[in-house]
Amino acid sequence: MNERKYDLETICANGGYSPKNAEARICPIVQSTTFKYDSSDAVGDLFDLKAEGHMYSRISNPTVEVLEKKIAALEGGLGAVATSSGQSANLISILTIAEAGDSIIAASNLYGGTYTLFSSTLKKFGINTIFIPLNDEKALEEAIKAGGKLFFAESLSNPSVEVLDIEKAARICHKYNIPLIVDNTFPSPVLLRPFEFGVDIVTHSTTKYIDGHATSVGGIIVDSGKFNWEKNGYKSLSDKDPAYHGLSYTETFKEKAYITKARVCFIRDLGNPMSPFNAFLTNLGLETLHLRMRKHSDNALKIAKFLESHEKVEWVNYPGLESSPYYELSKKYLKNGASGVISFGIKGGLEASKKWIDSLNLISLVVHVGDLRSSALHPASMTHRQLSNEALEKAGVKKNSIRLSIGIENTDDLISDLKEAFEKIE
Ligand SMILES: *Cc1c(COP(=O)(O)O)cnc(C)c1O
Repeated sequence: MNERKYDLETICANGGYSPKNAEARICPIVQSTTFKYDSSDAVGDLFDLKAEGHMYSRISNPTVEVLEKKIAALEGGLGAVATSSGQSANLISILTIAEAGDSIIAASNLYGGTYTLFSSTLKKFGINTIFIPLNDEKALEEAIKAGGKLFFAESLSNPSVEVLDIEKAARICHKYNIPLIVDNTFPSPVLLRPFEFGVDIVTHSTTKYIDGHATSVGGIIVDSGKFNWEKNGYKSLSDKDPAYHGLSYTETFKEKAYITKARVCFIRDLGNPMSPFNAFLTNLGLETLHLRMRKHSDNALKIAKFLESHEKVEWVNYPGLESSPYYELSKKYLKNGASGVISFGIKGGLEASKKWIDSLNLISLVVHVGDLRSSALHPASMTHRQLSNEALEKAGVKKNSIRLSIGIENTDDLISDLKEAFEKIE
């Protein structure tokens, strides 16, 4: 299939796999650790990166490759690497560029797991993160001048649902010749394709909407192929790598330098690939992504309006609401829907929030978003509980914040469940 020719809906259904005569219509689960070759020279060429092919499933696998090709096509990128989780995708997206002694820049409203990865674990690896407020041009410029080698932000943040002004961020990054990496988990490529607005690298937790059925933890990194690593002085991508007999990634792989290095260096050495079985299930979910994202967004807008009109609700954040400070940005970047996540605050603070969550019936209390079933979570006592009060505030999380992930159920049923829970609190 020539993915570039087709619309997103067609790629969701058919992308990444073109069976030949009498082959399986559905990409099989190639549950094999390894692949057989006829000559040692052929395997040697794979090791030297002179030939392409699968050799060992820690590095690549045919079922995983189908998912990688499909998501690369959906994002409009030229290559992708699937990982064991969204955390791995974000980790490797950074390590491919930065090493001990380097600084990176990140928006402070990141998902709790990513925030801790950057502020604590990467710090132990010798990589320092400069956190800056979202959409703050001056802070970004200052952080770049202080040595930040890349800027990382979420297109629609988890859980505060704030919208990144992508074009503005890309303009500043490119003025100073650094790459912009965007975690596009919440919109998915169906609602937003960050490369169209100048982003260089996109990551996803495929665990969320792309799988959509809450079966498989996974992640992916997609490369636009547009950033010029060599010209902009990213020596770890252009210098000769002794681990591959002195090969230079930019010289050998040209615009695919970054995504090749991510796989053959970091997935190979750290060992966090997606499993073929998870790739199969994730691909099954992805086939209906475009239908689900529309329904998630329509449902969430209805529920956000209901919450906004409820007397026991203190505030509601949903970028599709006209009252949202992000409404203008959402009209630009999220034209086809603002995805399924709402954050809101209940009057009465922490205790009322917990009681309300515990009173839900249909909507389940789970640590998850993006499932086709609706769910609720209290970030301050769950996903973000390791953050200090100050970090919580910067992350846009209040003590009474509730994160609702609206599924594709009937909205009258969902609203009844919400109403009944409100009746249980003072
Ligand atoms: C969940 C999530 C992650 C982490 O992904 P896992 O698949 O849970 O490892 C990263 N970024 C965002 C925006 C997320 O929602």
